[in-house]
Amino acid sequence: MAQGILIVVSGPSGTGKGTICRELLRNNPHLKYSISATTRQPREGEIDGVNYLFITKEKFKSMIVADDLLEWAEVYGNFYGTPRHYVLEQLNKGFDIVLEIDTQGAMKVKEKFPDGVYIYIIPPSLDELADRIFKRGTDSLDVIKKRLNCASSELSLAQNYHYIVVNDQVTAAVQKIETIIAAEKLKAERN
Ligand code: 5GP
Repeated sequence: MAQGILIVVSGPSGTGKGTICRELLRNNPHLKYSISATTRQPREGEIDGVNYLFITKEKFKSMIVADDLLEWAEVYGNFYGTPRHYVLEQLNKGFDIVLEIDTQGAMKVKEKFPDGVYIYIIPPSLDELADRIFKRGTDSLDVIKKRLNCASSELSLAQNYHYIVVNDQVTAAVQKIETIIAAEKLKAERN
């Protein structure tokens, strides 16, 4: 059986990539989602084992030592990482898998999986981004400032991705990603 495709989705905080990925996975149940491990505290409504694997710093460190993470990064003072085993297992079974990770992690994965599909989601404008982060209301003012500062420098990293998708409207952005995946699958089948 042919290997699945690894799809990496990144973008500045507040760009709506979480919503887009949720919608993408809902519309395409054959796609798998890599649940990241994180040391950050769960936000209201987040479920352990669904949104993230919420773990302690000690557990995270032991996963690094055991080489259990495909990549990991420190983002806004918390650690985030992609459990290796699940990703490799799904790809080997022929399933396509989505990783929603930051740019540092994405570049590490790209070194290991240059044939993956790397998608960068951008907001229509920086003003719109600030508006979305404030409206989400899940972060303290201090964290919001950090996220906005990072966002403008993160935007310049878009050039390292294969595709850039502007999220001016969630449904349209999801459709664009579905088209990208369909095209990439055709390409992979031909090779
Ligand atoms: P949040 O705290 O808003 O859920 O996520 C903060 C950032 O961490 C986002 O940019 C998100 O894409 C990124 N992130 C989530 N999981 C991972 C992961 O496993 N690895 C890396 N490198 N970044 C991640």
